[in-house]
Amino acid sequence: MIKLLPLPTISALLEESLDAVLIIDGSGEIRYLNPAMAQLAGYPADQLLGQSLNVLIDQELAKVHNGFLSHYVGSSRSSSVLGRVRDFAIRHSSGEMIPIQMKALDLGETDGVRYLGAFMEDVRPRRALEARQRELLEQLEHQALTDMLTGLPNRRAFQNGSAQAIARARRCGEAVAVGVADVDHFKSINDRYGHATGDQVLKEVASVIRHAARAGDLVARTGGEEFSLLFPSATVEQAVLVAGRIRAAIQDHAVKTPDGEFLRITLSIGVAQLPPDEGAFEAALARADAALYRAKHGGRNRVEADA
Ligand code: GH3
Ligand code: MG
Ligand code: MG
Repeated sequence: MIKLLPLPTISALLEESLDAVLIIDGSGEIRYLNPAMAQLAGYPADQLLGQSLNVLIDQELAKVHNGFLSHYVGSSRSSSVLGRVRDFAIRHSSGEMIPIQMKALDLGETDGVRYLGAFMEDVRPRRALEARQRELLEQLEHQALTDMLTGLPNRRAFQNGSAQAIARARRCGEAVAVGVADVDHFKSINDRYGHATGDQVLKEVASVIRHAARAGDLVARTGGEEFSLLFPSATVEQAVLVAGRIRAAIQDHAVKTPDGEFLRITLSIGVAQLPPDEGAFEAALARADAALYRAKHGGRNRVEADA
């Protein structure tokens, strides 16, 4: 069917192609290139016509390619290279190597000349788009797992992270403890200093807890002024010591209000051991919560362990 079309028709189509089109002969001489190809390579079209293909490829590769070409053209063997889409690179006039996808084809022999052709596509825009999409996906994943006010992991991240840490601890036969911390009389801070200062307090509390906890401990914001803690490789006694350090660090910290006033805050913490059986995580958190309740009723600014 295509043989019936006049040559100028096909040429006109190639000239308008968005893909770069290149035709060489059996000796590697460039016999045709369309405007997209000239633009891709960064040369005026007439400057490349009649030149060796070697101008457009890496010098090391040029040797291999020349060998391949003479061998291929001189024999009747088929090639695994031709007819398939491959990743390749061409050398731009600036010297830059441009990554492309290429489909090379044997165009057969006409009037005693063997022709080979190739379609080429600059893959940089697609790669840039893919990189941007990966970046956005990572951002979304991060946002879905992060509390935006404090930058701490949120409840979902705490559950994910805890599940992993607990599985690891069970494999190693290590104890794990959990904790729940709650800012004392936080409502009165909001009432007295305003919501913005309340937010500032939460940010600083988050940062102080994070720094006072051990590096491997999980610290998450899981409620308004409530933080959840996971202590891997810790008995409840060891967790109480860490929680005590956190409590003391909060007591020692002062938050400066916009009026220049120094605000003191305290924290109550409940701690519980995680039993070795599966599915005990939520129950352990509930016991830590009950211990927190006792800490509140015992006068606040204290750590209580599950009895
Ligand atoms: P307690 O010592 O018993 O814990 O008393 P409390 O005042 O801390 O407890 P309560 O649960 O009565 O109050 C918690 C307050 O935390 C109420 C709510 O308005 C405030 N809060 C929750 N989330 C945020 C937040 O993101 N920003 C600010 N500024 N306030 C918040
Ligand atoms: Mg609370
Ligand atoms: Mg509170």
